[in-house]
Amino acid sequence: MKTVLVTGGTGFIGSHTVISLIENDFDVIIADNLINSKKEVINRLHTITGKQIKFYNVDCCDKEALSLVFKENDIDSIIHFAGLKAVGESVSKPLEYYSNNINSMLTVLELMREFNVKKLVFSSSATVYGQSEDVPFTEQSPLGMCTNPYGWTKWMIEQILKDVAHADPSLSIVLLRYFNPVGAHESGLIGEDPQGIPNNLFPYISKVAVGTLECLTVFGDDYDTPDGTCLRDYIHVCDLAEGHVKALNYIDTHKSGVEVFNLGTGKGTSVKEAIAAFEKACGHSINHVFGPRRAGDLPVCYASTDKAREVLGFEAKRDINDMCSSCWNWQQKNPNGLSD
Ligand code: NAD
Ligand code: UDP
Repeated sequence: MKTVLVTGGTGFIGSHTVISLIENDFDVIIADNLINSKKEVINRLHTITGKQIKFYNVDCCDKEALSLVFKENDIDSIIHFAGLKAVGESVSKPLEYYSNNINSMLTVLELMREFNVKKLVFSSSATVYGQSEDVPFTEQSPLGMCTNPYGWTKWMIEQILKDVAHADPSLSIVLLRYFNPVGAHESGLIGEDPQGIPNNLFPYISKVAVGTLECLTVFGDDYDTPDGTCLRDYIHVCDLAEGHVKALNYIDTHKSGVEVFNLGTGKGTSVKEAIAAFEKACGHSINHVFGPRRAGDLPVCYASTDKAREVLGFEAKRDINDMCSSCWNWQQKNPNGLSD
């Protein structure tokens, strides 16, 4: 059984990926400092998978502490999810974002070198495509012109990984550019659990649906799109999780270098369509008003999925209704999220 170190494994995408890894016979170790997640996730993962997962409460920027994880385990590959991800917060706290996201990646790379670990999957984002309006985004689309420090950390880490892989041809690295991950595991035991008022559409809609928040503001209905609201490529987090297993399998057969894949559905859904789908899932209307545009929002963003399909054999299976119903199931069962 191959051992995968999942940094950030108690977070939203990491926790769902841990389930897919276990279902595919990987042995999993989680390293997370719980800065944006709860230890209770480990208990929930135990309930779902029947496995007691080895968990280290460790900051991935702390080399000495993280090196223990490498010493105590025979790590075959790493999926590096650990990082801060709130776009708005990154604008007000750029130092925290650059420091955490880049140092955690550098520390993992240094330890990979010391402990002879060769395989890495990195959580990148469609945000590296910046302000281009030329959709769909293919892996060859121009990068940069990011609108916030969070996006720049992803862009910089991609560059770091390309340089490191160039210098050491024994490394095999996959960069996964996620589009908009939403939804939750079918059990309703784990899901997205943002602290405070959510910035993203789906957590916000869920909180209005469950009654924690009063009203959703739709940021702009005067875009040049079919219904005037922005289109995004929402992808079910369980599909995304399966994409990571495909990426690890690919790395095993792929000798060296860096390969990049978009993970999306290839379809754009508007804010109005997302609200309507959620209303169908929860069985009541979602209170919303139309407000001004949000600075930096692209009108349309969706992935070209050709490369992931052709090379990884990855295709998203779940649709927007599955995303909304699983999100609602999780929200209803955990109206206040998780507590420790
Ligand atoms: P999340 O915040 O739920 O998970 C990230 C996890 O990393 C958290 O559990 C947090 O406690 C942990 N963490 C942060 N800094 C750490 C550090 N220094 N040491 C150890 N643990 C640390 O976020 P998510 O939505 O699951 O995202 C996972 C990754 O995917 C992130 O790198 C994020 O930037 C990237 N990503 C997310 C999205 C999205 O919309 N959710 C889109 C594109 C890319
Ligand atoms: N959005 C909105 N109201 C909100 C949050 C988001 O209308 O409270 C819109 C946002 O303008 C964008 C879409 O929903 O068009 C998706 O936003 P999100 O922040 O989830 O993803 P991103 O824009 O980062 O892709």
